[in-house]
Amino acid sequence: MSLHGQYDSRNIFALILNGDAPCYKIYEDEQVLAFLDVFPQSYGHTLVIPKSSQARNILEVEPAALSAMMAAVQRLTRIIVDELQPDGVQIAQFNGAAAGQTVYHIHMHIVPRWEGKEASEHGRGKAEAQELQALQARLVERISAQGGV
Ligand code: 5GP
Repeated sequence: MSLHGQYDSRNIFALILNGDAPCYKIYEDEQVLAFLDVFPQSYGHTLVIPKSSQARNILEVEPAALSAMMAAVQRLTRIIVDELQPDGVQIAQFNGAAAGQTVYHIHMHIVPRWEGKEASEHGRGKAEAQELQALQARLVERISAQGGV
């Protein structure tokens, strides 16, 4: 499955949305869910997905779902930058296997970056559960302390 194809309702993000697979959730509202990438390219690597869309990629996503996702990405990026104080932050989105996509429910990556620290390979190297739990708690606390995103 790649740039063109059918939405697979058993993809891992669909399972997470349905509650059939776990995630380290940091934020949710009516339109989006944000959670930590378990194979992070960098500390704080976060994924933001639309909840109601069955778009696999940018070609298919409804403009309203895209807008809601991007607005959430901006708000969450501000929080992640405030909390983790990176030197930079990458916002990424991949379409089709040739472009690096591995999960076919549209999503945005928020990847904090630090000077002199290379990003890990995309989708490789699982983070320790303890580290993800601690990071989740930190970001959830930050969101709560400022009264939401
Ligand atoms: P893509 O390659 O499609 O742009 O990004 C998919 C992302 O999902 C990758 O960064 C990969 O590390 C992440 N990922 C894959 N499986 C899981 C999972 O089960 N849980 C979480 N939280 N992230 C996952």
